[in-house]
Amino acid sequence: MPHLLIIGGSDAGISAALRARQVNPALEVTVIVADGYANYSICGLPFWLAGETADWRDLAHRSAGEIEDQGIRLLLKRTAQAIDPTGKTVAVVDEDGRSRRMAYDKLVIATGAVPARPPIKGLEQPGVFFLRTMGDGFALQELLAVQSPTSAVVVGAGYIGLEMAEALTRRGWPVTVVEYLPSALTTLDAPLGDLVAEELRGQGVTVATGVAVQRIDPQGSHLLVSGSGGFRAQANLVLVATGVRPEARLAAAAGIETGKWGAIRVSQAMETNMSDVYAAGDCVETYHRLLERHDYLPLGSTAHRQGRIAGENGADGQALFSGTLGTQVVQVFDLVAARTGLRDAEARQANFDPLTVQTEVWDHKVYYPGAHRLYVRVTGDRRTGRLLGAQIVGHRTAEVSKRVDVFATALFNHMNVEALNDLDLSYTPPLSTPWDAVQVAAQAWMEKRAPDCRNRL
Ligand SMILES: Cc1cc2nc3c(=O)[nH]c(=O)nc-3n(C[C@H](O)[C@H](O)[C@H](O)COP(=O)(O)OP(=O)(O)OC[C@H]3O[C@@H](n4cnc5c(N)ncnc54)[C@H](O)[C@@H]3O)c2cc1C
Repeated sequence: MPHLLIIGGSDAGISAALRARQVNPALEVTVIVADGYANYSICGLPFWLAGETADWRDLAHRSAGEIEDQGIRLLLKRTAQAIDPTGKTVAVVDEDGRSRRMAYDKLVIATGAVPARPPIKGLEQPGVFFLRTMGDGFALQELLAVQSPTSAVVVGAGYIGLEMAEALTRRGWPVTVVEYLPSALTTLDAPLGDLVAEELRGQGVTVATGVAVQRIDPQGSHLLVSGSGGFRAQANLVLVATGVRPEARLAAAAGIETGKWGAIRVSQAMETNMSDVYAAGDCVETYHRLLERHDYLPLGSTAHRQGRIAGENGADGQALFSGTLGTQVVQVFDLVAARTGLRDAEARQANFDPLTVQTEVWDHKVYYPGAHRLYVRVTGDRRTGRLLGAQIVGHRTAEVSKRVDVFATALFNHMNVEALNDLDLSYTPPLSTPWDAVQVAAQAWMEKRAPDCRNRL
């Protein structure tokens, strides 16, 4: 029986294993997982740490038993140490240090990512945390359980930093968020990032932007966080959330080609340059559907889709990854912020002729209680009218994710901004308006591009 070996048991690895068994139920499938938590949703860690999800066990997408019921062999607490692509074996060590070689016919590498370690002095000391694995979550929870709330500093105002700023606030901790760039949530343009910063401040979080944190020093029972422009903050807990880098060392050591940020190079079939070796998830470069080239865009949604493709092809299938648009969404207290596709500067860099228009609309009919403002930025190509991207910020009840997904679907299908107007979108006063916010934003874009188009609306 052919043997598909998978290194990594999170979103990409388990998706690959499940799909491979679906495509070929006779295939022998083994998943090697470095820790004891196969298929846990690390995306849920901030909500467990906030106390909103009561039990960490509920973060499992599936239990180990459910995975094994699919005929998948799970080897937990085993670490792959070396790949020999010529002999088609992987050296695996267990938690007692015993090593063995496992043979494969096809291999999927799904080793994910690790937190980026910015050049800050003092990252090694107690009280400084990163958040990536279930183990990281347990370490942080241990401190939160014994330490009465004093003060916390979150370094990095990306989506994980902001989710954790909210989680710590919910646990009663005064929080300061420090960001190197000039606005919060820099996956969005500054005017929308500023709305997110305003929400944070409104919820009692201190936000310092444009500050490069330089060092973290012990100071009595506290830590002192210092940065550029005279920034200083005392904390008992420092969470560093400044992005991730691909965990591709194993692949690189085996001679597998890597690219941006050291991520594994793959084709749209998720094949590496080594025969019978596939890779998926946060350890790989991702094909961008609009840019028509690979980029590094690590996301759980993408890891699931890529893992499925790698698994199908590892079972002799013919699947192709259709690409990412970088679609993402995050809830920050009472706001939801989302984006898909390219922002103005990214589109310009990719040789488009972008026009970006921001529109402010009601999320639903104002006569129905609870209407809120939605802020929608649409980017399109001035020359061709093609939709290139959208960003939205709105209240958490404002169906922001539905709307960004409409834009994502339009982008996936290479639609023009104008074509958004022709979509048959749903309407009921408590949830939307007869022209949905997506269409109002598209109309505003069209008007700006060619003011005389108003007559056609
Ligand atoms: C706090 C947090 C919140 C997030 N929220 C979101 C969100 O809302 N939406 C979203 O789309 N994404 C989110 N993400 C990102 C998402 O979790 C990742 O994109 C996703 O987990 C990537 O899956 P992966 O399988 O590629 O890698 P990982 O989840 O990093 O898993 C890697 C796997 O490989 C194993 N491994 C590594 N090296 C070895 C080895 N040598 N031997 C054996 N096993 C090995 C690890 O044990 C693990 O099982 C979030 C991430 C975090 C940390």
